[in-house]
Amino acid sequence: MARAIKSKKSEKQLPIAVIGGGPAGLAAAEAAADNYKNVFLFDKNPFPARKLISRTAEYLFVAEKVSAENFADAFGPKKSFVTPALKSFGWKEISAQLKKMGVKVGPNGGNRLMISPDDISKLSTGFVKVAESAGIIFKKSCRVTDLIISHGSVKEIVVNGISHPVSAVIVACGSYSAPKIGSTRDGYEFARKAGHEIIPLKAAMVGLETVEKYGKLLDGVTVRDCRIDVYLEDELRITDRGSLIFTKYGLNGQLIQNHSAQIIELIKKGNVEIHIDQVPDMTKMEISKHLDHEFPHADRTTLFEHLNPHLPDGLLDVMDKIIRVHSGRPVSHLTTLEKKHMVLWLKDFAFTIKKPRPFNETMGVLGGVSLNDIDPGTMASKKIKNLYFAGEVLDLLGPWGGYNIEMAFSTGHLAGISASSALNGGKINRTA
Ligand SMILES: Cc1cc2nc3c(=O)[nH]c(=O)nc-3n(C[C@H](O)[C@H](O)[C@H](O)COP(=O)(O)OP(=O)(O)OC[C@H]3O[C@@H](n4cnc5c(N)ncnc54)[C@H](O)[C@@H]3O)c2cc1C
Repeated sequence: MARAIKSKKSEKQLPIAVIGGGPAGLAAAEAAADNYKNVFLFDKNPFPARKLISRTAEYLFVAEKVSAENFADAFGPKKSFVTPALKSFGWKEISAQLKKMGVKVGPNGGNRLMISPDDISKLSTGFVKVAESAGIIFKKSCRVTDLIISHGSVKEIVVNGISHPVSAVIVACGSYSAPKIGSTRDGYEFARKAGHEIIPLKAAMVGLETVEKYGKLLDGVTVRDCRIDVYLEDELRITDRGSLIFTKYGLNGQLIQNHSAQIIELIKKGNVEIHIDQVPDMTKMEISKHLDHEFPHADRTTLFEHLNPHLPDGLLDVMDKIIRVHSGRPVSHLTTLEKKHMVLWLKDFAFTIKKPRPFNETMGVLGGVSLNDIDPGTMASKKIKNLYFAGEVLDLLGPWGGYNIEMAFSTGHLAGISASSALNGGKINRTA
């Protein structure tokens, strides 16, 4: 027999159960708790926000300071689905939310909002603090294993083997990306049970191993502004500009993350090469002229001094090992052939792609709960009346740079408001 989960607030109202303690789950629970007295948040881990805090060495990008419409553009054909959620909870609300959690969030000089590596671990404790002050009952180490559905609504959830009656359920279990840190497919199974279609999962947002190995030499060197041209055999398939990181196995970073899903498909068809233009604002001719600039033979200006202001940090240090031109050489002493080598390397550093890194390292997946049966204005299931979905469990993936965390917070917030107001006769309290 089902036993009601004990609530401090009210024994009369059955709880809204939010499954998943990531950004989507927290935003959902908090918005729900504004309107409804009895909200439970379950996470199978002993602490929340595990995926977020797994990023320890690099900045975590959390939002983009642009209008909801501009932000939604990044979701391409799914723009109209995400826009209502983004309008209900955008970058301003997310910044305020993070501030409440005691986490400093700041711009990176542009529109992107980020959290520094020193602050990332505070997300977990801040999460618990915010949940407690909102009156949410946070149940850690509690894995929801089943939804009991009958007559078109979820009646109970099963937690650690025990079933509990609920008034509504918000599924915010995240995607299957990075399974090594504990992601499971539970959210998809709940959706499937409720009659939802699951769009097949494919690896995305993952590094690429290359045939050319520079190992430790290039590992960690970041090119902040470059262009990549991706060729399948001799045909140009992708061209884009942004940042990239060389790693000991090959390539990663913004451009690679954003295009890896498409590149993985190309590898199945034939030979794929990525050509990197490390100085996209200068033509080959301009660089040649720059190197040929009047340097009398006695001039001791080194390549490093001459080129460093124009090139990514660290690149000139490794040039010697890659094209055998030492950056300490005076420019005036370079041979014509050496200059040609340099220009070619700077404008067309080519890599043959071998394979993606293992699925374990994916930061996102394509696929998930189909959007066809979710109402974008409420995040409610069109199949089951008191069931809602939010965050990365949905078939939604934005580009690198904060889009996925912002999408998780926004859809979570909308799901929380919708679930609670539906139980509250349509009354909405907005504290965000
Ligand atoms: C290494 C790494 C770095 C990333 N960096 C960025 C970045 O800089 N910017 C960005 O925008 N995105 C980034 N992402 C993606 C981002 O983390 C996700 O988009 C975001 O966490 C999705 O939020 P969510 O709440 O939907 O899911 P999640 O954060 O995955 O949270 C889901 C939660 O549900 C819990 N759960 C699952 N099943 C159950 C169950 N059955 N019962 C109870 N609990 C359950 C899980 O334990 C988990 O805590 C990164 C991802 C990784 C792996």
